[in-house]
Amino acid sequence: MHSNKIGTLYVVATPIGNLQDISLRAIEVLKKVDRVAAEDTRHAMQLLNHFSINKPTLSLHEFNERERVGVLLAYLQQQGESVALVSDAGTPLISDPGFLVVREAKAVGIPVVPVPGPCAAITALSVSGLATDRFIFEGFLPAKEEARRQRLTLLRHEKRTLIFYEAPHRLLDTLQSMSTVFGSQRKAVVARELTKVHESVLAMDLAALIAWFTSHPDQQRGEIVILVTGAEEEKQHAKEVIPKEALAILLEELPLKQAVALASKITGERKNVLYELALSMKGNA
Ligand code: SAM
Repeated sequence: MHSNKIGTLYVVATPIGNLQDISLRAIEVLKKVDRVAAEDTRHAMQLLNHFSINKPTLSLHEFNERERVGVLLAYLQQQGESVALVSDAGTPLISDPGFLVVREAKAVGIPVVPVPGPCAAITALSVSGLATDRFIFEGFLPAKEEARRQRLTLLRHEKRTLIFYEAPHRLLDTLQSMSTVFGSQRKAVVARELTKVHESVLAMDLAALIAWFTSHPDQQRGEIVILVTGAEEEKQHAKEVIPKEALAILLEELPLKQAVALASKITGERKNVLYELALSMKGNA
């Protein structure tokens, strides 16, 4: 595919465990490109060998991505080569290297073409039984307890389904932090070893998940996605109920106007709404 033309950067998703999940198009693209940029070249070679593909590889991992960007852009721009970017598993850039390359390639007008395929987060979500209409992907949480809790605290009231990646040796600690921050009754799902022999998807509340994994240490292995159900619809009525309660207390002690002004300050509800409410409460008294 050498030419004077600028090359194309293909972002190619690869299986997350089961090699049969590679797409026909991914194979075709890997066969036709000039070079494969891979997170781990040995790992990529295994994949390429499996499909009898023989290509020069170039490593691109989190520690050398910055310096490799220039090299890759030179292959694409100056040599007119086409390059496939793959990671160890799943979709590149999703908790994997590749962002800098894609950003820079696009900035200089190199065509960037997706070759979609597996992604552990979406695979887990699709069988989790949790709401799929709105979700957020949070990747890996910080490894340190304090930082992890802080991050989770920011997500405490998030209503969308939450998706996290986690390393097996941190599973219990993370479930524990989630239980502390989200409450032990919050429903969650631990999806392990997806598409592999020991695939399992366990849905329980956080307390039950902690108990289960504590009593099954052999199950704390492998690759893991944790999904947590979104915070319950925050009591939509909170604004109505709390202002009403505040008003009722204040009206016992204060004139109506003052009670309304204070209730508005306390609850954030608009004064005219509270005024109407106060009048109706007085009327019913
Ligand atoms: N780019 C990948 C993707 O598209 O899913 C993710 C790469 S990230 C470095 C690796 C993490 O993804 C693992 O620690 C685990 O949380 C999750 N993961 C990857 N493969 C998985 C699998 N087969 N089952 C469950 N989780 C998996």
